Amino acid sequence: CGIFGIWGHTNAAQLTYYGLHALQHRGQEGAGIVSTDGEALRALKGEGMVSEVFTPEKLEKITGTAAIGHVRYATAGGSGIENVQPLLFNSTTGSLAISHNGNLVNATQLKGHLERQGSIFQTTSDTEVLAHLIKRSGYESFEEKAKNALSLLKGAFACLVLTEEAMFVALDPNGLRPLSVGKMGDAWVVASETCAFDIVGAEFVHSVEPGEFLIINDDGMRKERFAYPEERSICTMEYVYFSRPDSDIDGINIHSARKRLGKQLAKEVHIEADVVTGVPDSSISAAIGFSEQSGIPYELGLIKNRYVGRTFIQPSQEMRERGVKMKLSPVRQVVNGKRVVMVDDSIVRGTTSRRIVALLKEAGATEVHVVISSPPIKNPCFYGIDISTSGELIAANNTVEEMREIIGADSLTFLSVDGMVQNIGRTDPGSKCGHCLACFTGEYPTNIYPDTVLPHEK
Ligand code: 5GP
Ligand code: SF4
Ligand code: MG
Repeated sequence: CGIFGIWGHTNAAQLTYYGLHALQHRGQEGAGIVSTDGEALRALKGEGMVSEVFTPEKLEKITGTAAIGHVRYATAGGSGIENVQPLLFNSTTGSLAISHNGNLVNATQLKGHLERQGSIFQTTSDTEVLAHLIKRSGYESFEEKAKNALSLLKGAFACLVLTEEAMFVALDPNGLRPLSVGKMGDAWVVASETCAFDIVGAEFVHSVEPGEFLIINDDGMRKERFAYPEERSICTMEYVYFSRPDSDIDGINIHSARKRLGKQLAKEVHIEADVVTGVPDSSISAAIGFSEQSGIPYELGLIKNRYVGRTFIQPSQEMRERGVKMKLSPVRQVVNGKRVVMVDDSIVRGTTSRRIVALLKEAGATEVHVVISSPPIKNPCFYGIDISTSGELIAANNTVEEMREIIGADSLTFLSVDGMVQNIGRTDPGSKCGHCLACFTGEYPTNIYPDTVLPHEK
């Protein structure tokens, strides 16, 4: 998912729309904005893409000088309009709205606890527990209530909470998801990715730190914390696949990091080939890096039909297969009679690689060597990226040689864990340099409970 918030601007909802548009790659299943004029909170939400949900006429109705927004990528919780965020709770003792990116690992426990106390949940989203915890907290001020509630959450959460009086910003103690703060004149903006600042003309100020709690209101911004930071564990897939190439996470540009991953791959494997091609869009940077390092020319061997959504997000396997076919086409002139290196960022179920190898061979490629700019994904993700059950993960059940055979490639190479971590370039203390590597290594940065719900199991 992607989140965006703004405080102190007369066009708050309009700017949130632009911000969400820049974050569209983070979720295409639903989008919403909640704005406030200091008196009430108003919501506009719908299923589908940002441009489908919001029209200029509708946006004009949610006036105000502050707003938070969300683009939804369904992981925990089913699809359906009730799960589209921001979740809005009206109350005579003060309304609130929440945008959440990530996935809580103790949502089932918290929900059971709250239900026994009389809470009734309206959604199947893990995010709703935060609202109940805030409202039921015994503390006096909203700030203290929110901090107390946040301290009970476990897992991944980059959150924005909006009330009539303030916008609150929080990041989980491991810092699993990216979250940045920017400024636009006197207005404050917060976004999952810095590419959203560029589109609204805001300047990056700083990243939100793990465990931090920011209070933004008409007096400015105040930094507090709801928890001590734990070992930094930012999602590595944000660098490898999820974030946009023009975003920076903690000062590291995503395109540049991916290019270094491609270069490192070319150092780890030697392949005799005629052309290098990347799977658009997320693997182009790595393919350019591989080409530069190996000396094999980079070519546009595959083109993407940009009017088809991300294949991964299609619910059924059949739809996913068709999705790949509609989405990618080989450039026959480039690959015919050639030995092709095909770079992709990751293999999850193996659908994309298998289809592309077949497409390239049908178009006349004599050999197809698949190189992947991340290590094999062997474990499910509990933190909000849709790498679900082990049964679906091709690398959890097959050796690299078996995978090569399944996808029909002439060779298959994955990047090493060390090669990946060192070339992304973070310098946090600890052996993992600030990364979550759980889907590769099985070492989860938080507790995982017996009743922790995997994405798509709810
Ligand atoms: P597969 O086709 O092997 O199941 O999935 C890998 C492909 O899906 C890659 O091309 C990658 O760019 C894309 N992809 C889409 N969404 C995701 C995601 O959430 N995680 C990962 N690792 N890859 C994804
Ligand atoms: Fe990211 Fe993998 Fe960690 Fe999930 S398990 S947060 S996908 S690095
Ligand atoms: Mg891809």
